[in-house]
Amino acid sequence: MLVLMKYNASEEQVSEVVGAIRAMGYDARSIPGGQRTAVGLIGNDGRADANRLQGLPGVSEVIPVTRAYKQVSREWREEDTLVSLSNGTVVGGTDLIVIAGPCAVEGESQIVDIAHMLRDKGATVLRGGAFKPRTSPYSFQGLGLEGLRFLARAREQTGLMVVTEALDPDGVDLVAEYADIVQVGARNMQNYPLLRRAGRCGKPVLLKRGMSATIEEWLLAAEYLLAEGNDDVILCERGVRSFTRHTRNLLDLAAIPVVKSLSHLPIIADPSHATGLRSKVIPLGRAAVAAGADGLMVEVHPDPPHAMSDGAQSLYPEQFAELMEQVEAIAHAISRGVTAPLEVVSTG
Ligand code: PEP
Ligand code: MN
Repeated sequence: MLVLMKYNASEEQVSEVVGAIRAMGYDARSIPGGQRTAVGLIGNDGRADANRLQGLPGVSEVIPVTRAYKQVSREWREEDTLVSLSNGTVVGGTDLIVIAGPCAVEGESQIVDIAHMLRDKGATVLRGGAFKPRTSPYSFQGLGLEGLRFLARAREQTGLMVVTEALDPDGVDLVAEYADIVQVGARNMQNYPLLRRAGRCGKPVLLKRGMSATIEEWLLAAEYLLAEGNDDVILCERGVRSFTRHTRNLLDLAAIPVVKSLSHLPIIADPSHATGLRSKVIPLGRAAVAAGADGLMVEVHPDPPHAMSDGAQSLYPEQFAELMEQVEAIAHAISRGVTAPLEVVSTG
């Protein structure tokens, strides 16, 4: 339930509404907007009585939030959420962001060298798994803490922000200590204890769509993060299971405009895990941008044939440069831009 205040409502009147909601036994959250403030009633079990709020001073109207997900919905918040990172990158605005890097951190020079190259070509966020969720228990599982330290070194040297995955609830705080964005992977989209911890970690969260998740399930997973007080959530479409096997997954391009209409959260696309095939990453990256994605996340490796994971879908560095040029052209065609490349930082 959402209590819309009149455009000239005073702060005292907003506080009175918050107090009344709390007295009814629910949580309240004030949502300042461009035109007027709204107050959200959190935890409605269907029994909250709108009449008790309707008559309070400064209240314009009380509207039900009809979706199962509440805080994530456009009904709750009309304006797009912008997720701001400390290197100046903003996710969800007019300018698209490009996140790039290898599937996994394999060593210090691997990640630091590729980070320089990616920064020079216009990426502003570096990806790289330190804890890898592998389908087989015998596959490379990542460098763990050492991998996080290498990512932090790459950030220090390049100014790129770092996104990396937390695999389990107890690992969230460690990842959040090193990363600028904590990733929740497709296999963990419905790991509710993990989502709750990620919601309290104090860092933005990149929430990938589960490989068989409906959009409603995905948005409800995001709701867990917002329910814990974390508004800085970025959704990532990474392809879903389908009956066809010509690509690793099926990139659900329609999910991009559909999510945009249902939710205020930014949404990016990962054409690497969606296709599993290097030759298909650029075409589908272009398509996702054309469909309205707020950015891309792509795997790039200095030597894909020798990558320890996902080499077949990793772009060569020169292909990344080609992708950036094309993304820029498409962004302009739809009145958007691409986040400006970072200034070269002194490494001291
Ligand atoms: C990843 O981005 O490193 C990853 C494992 O992707 P997903 O969770 O989408 O499979
Ligand atoms: Mn991968």
